[in-house]
Amino acid sequence: MMRLFKGGTVVSGRGTKRADVLIDGEKIVQVGRNIIAPNAQVIDVTGMLLLPGFIDAHTHFDLDVCNTTTADDFTSGSRAALRGGTTTVVDFACPNKGETLHDGLKLWHKKADGKTYCDYGFHMTIDDWNETIEREIDDMYAEGISSFKMYMTYPAMMLGDELMYCALKKLKEKGGLCGVHCENSGVIDALIKEKKARNLNRVSCHPETRPDYLEAEAVSRLLRIAQAVDIPVVIVHLTNAAALKEAEAARKRGQKVYVETCPQYLVLDDSVYYNPDYLEAAKYVCSPPIRKISDQKALWGALRRGEIQTVSTDHCSFTLAQKEAGRHDFTAIPGGIPGVETRGELIYTAGVTTRKISLATMCKVLSENPAKLYGMFPRKGVIAKGADADIVVYDPQADHVIRAEDMVSQADYNPYEGFVTRGSIAQVWLRGSLAVERGRVIAGCNGVYIPRGKNSL
Ligand code: MN
Ligand code: MN
Repeated sequence: MMRLFKGGTVVSGRGTKRADVLIDGEKIVQVGRNIIAPNAQVIDVTGMLLLPGFIDAHTHFDLDVCNTTTADDFTSGSRAALRGGTTTVVDFACPNKGETLHDGLKLWHKKADGKTYCDYGFHMTIDDWNETIEREIDDMYAEGISSFKMYMTYPAMMLGDELMYCALKKLKEKGGLCGVHCENSGVIDALIKEKKARNLNRVSCHPETRPDYLEAEAVSRLLRIAQAVDIPVVIVHLTNAAALKEAEAARKRGQKVYVETCPQYLVLDDSVYYNPDYLEAAKYVCSPPIRKISDQKALWGALRRGEIQTVSTDHCSFTLAQKEAGRHDFTAIPGGIPGVETRGELIYTAGVTTRKISLATMCKVLSENPAKLYGMFPRKGVIAKGADADIVVYDPQADHVIRAEDMVSQADYNPYEGFVTRGSIAQVWLRGSLAVERGRVIAGCNGVYIPRGKNSL
């Protein structure tokens, strides 16, 4: 079936232009002024912005973590994603301790296949390094996994400097890419012990034991390890000005560094942790923690200058009942917040309408750059001939209020409750099918696995 989107403004990483978009089945076949297509169904998008379907390259669906399982599985998580304009997620496949990467991949396909509303791919977590895992890396590329993840904190997951060096060396052979969670593990553990020795247990102990400079230290160390290997790396969920400076220093040395941040670090500040109501504060516990207003400003500036390439969500949702677990032990609060359903409207409202970033930059950081970085471009990330017809129709006039009760995420709260958006998502199209109309998800489980290729950013 042919459809013609008429009268809208098409957004790309280069800017905006008035253009019609003709789609045939799952693909975009033409973009241009005054397209004539007598057999096409016309969709009037006068006054609307058309953006390439958003890509969220950092989600955790159906993850067993902190002695519990995330509130969102692939079904509810991907419905939430789609409702928020995200047509593709890249989730983190994670083998159980002692199992192989193949086991991890099989497990993630079992969690996702046939149960997912938007398209999806997987990064592969490397939380151990040995000859078996090294041999498996080649197979991962054959399976469409072109990006990996490592941790510098969480004793159960972290590799240590030597193994991280070895793993990056292997990925370099393959032209591979690795995202890294950067926080100094040892000093954080010592600070936690000090709090506990003094019987301090407020939620604010969470940010106080994970200060910005211990994130910056890990960023710096990662980038020096990457320098030794001579490989580009991705710093995931970067939160603060000091860490940004380390990325800039590495670039000045000639290194290629990709940086991701998340909406929570752009629109919230650490005052959320000082709410005297336990649950109100625990809602916001995530790692690294939410920082200061001055850090928000630094992040927006870096986005504007192209020094941060992607905004993903680190969606890792829990219910308030699950957040109860840490009432008497701040280290037992499940770490993570929901975000996949609100990213587009938050970035448009807080970034574009305030002129902190342009629409073109929004398009880059939500769609085009993640598509390139994670090997899906130009199938994804752009409204152009030959691309999948993944289209977000954004109505700049339809302001609304973010409410947890409207969300399809299984988290029973929203970190942005009461936030007034500028405009809202009117429609979401996934590979040529109308998937969301004015906040209502009408699609079924039509998501497909997207095998990915190499970084082209
Ligand atoms: Mn992380
Ligand atoms: Mn994460």
